[in-house]
Amino acid sequence: MVKEIPMVEFKDVTKIYSKSKQPAVEHISFKINKGEFCCLIGTSGSGKTTLMRMINRMNSVTKGQVLVNGKDVKKFNSVNLRRKIGYVIQNNGLMPHMTIRENIVLVPKLLKWSKEKLNEEAERLIKLAELPESYLDRYPAELSGGQQQRIGVVRALAANQNLILMDEPFGALDPITRESLQNLVQNLQMQLGKTIVFVTHDMDEALKLATKIVVLHDGKLIQVGSPEEILHHPANKFVESLIGEERLSEAKYETVKVKNVMTAPVKINLGASLNDALAMMKERHVDTLLVIDDDNHLKGYISIADLQRKYPHVSSVSDIMLPINATVGPEEYLRDNFSRILSRNGQYIPVVDAERKLIGVVTRASLVNVVYEKIWGEKKPATEELEKKAN
Ligand code: ADP
Ligand code: MG
Repeated sequence: MVKEIPMVEFKDVTKIYSKSKQPAVEHISFKINKGEFCCLIGTSGSGKTTLMRMINRMNSVTKGQVLVNGKDVKKFNSVNLRRKIGYVIQNNGLMPHMTIRENIVLVPKLLKWSKEKLNEEAERLIKLAELPESYLDRYPAELSGGQQQRIGVVRALAANQNLILMDEPFGALDPITRESLQNLVQNLQMQLGKTIVFVTHDMDEALKLATKIVVLHDGKLIQVGSPEEILHHPANKFVESLIGEERLSEAKYETVKVKNVMTAPVKINLGASLNDALAMMKERHVDTLLVIDDDNHLKGYISIADLQRKYPHVSSVSDIMLPINATVGPEEYLRDNFSRILSRNGQYIPVVDAERKLIGVVTRASLVNVVYEKIWGEKKPATEELEKKAN
């Protein structure tokens, strides 16, 4: 298999600004593949902007190498390099004395496109920004901050640059405008297949947008991973703190599987006598038993009410057992089965494997536990009592 050249690669990169002794970033290595949405995240001063600006040589590299498309950025003509790479900053970079139209066709105009093509381009972009065409002839100050940033984002993503750097582009926007711009970037990126490097200090933003998250702290690389990896396997306390308690417990709850909470079933062989069944119910303080065959296949259940009604006219468990329709598999997520478990008349749901062998039960009490943990982050103290009742 031919290995694709990464769009950007940091190879043991260190940056020391001329007037300081301390490195702003040190020994950073990671790759950004084509089409990836890479978020650099960290607290203020962690080196995000420093790192990003080495990609288009707005910052020089002190040690190590930054490669774009497999080529050391030092070997590019810096003007050419910057022309190949889009750049979006917080205050959108629109020229205040130019109309939106003039702003968005600035570069094509320099490239001497025909008037007709320039107009087409302006119309295409304002559509992508989901703004009315009449806005083309307004000045930036006649648009809201969010609308200006829409133009900035669309201008960068629609240009023929495959790599786009965005440095906290939505930092100054209110949450609602911010969300709509995040959606815009996400849609455009998917439509147009660009590679994006996006600086943020907001984990929500990173988790929403990124395919790859790079966590920085004090100029050092702490963790690189997909949002799922970061969320479910944070490398250390610092990453956990960036994620936040609430989201961590949410994530934990999101991935709880049936097998993680199931408990041992109270079961009886279908050939057993009703006497045995009654004795077992008494001993285990339960009013139903799951019925299995010699190979542990789930066959049905019996309840104490039926047992008392039919006894002593029938002799074995198989004569009075009733079928069970609702079961769950061990690998299913608990979150998908909450309502099924709770809505079933009984207090539990049997867990069976692919061959319908009985491997456990999920009780209402286990659900209560999970909910408690989610809300208070600890096990409910009276677990055992509840479980006894439920069984
Ligand atoms: P971030 O974008 O994560 O907030 P920066 O990359 O801007 O962090 O800064 C990283 C470190 O480098 C900080 O300690 C900052 O003070 C320092 N730094 C940034 N730019 C310069 C500069 N031009 N000259 C000297 N030090 C700088
Ligand atoms: Mg910064």
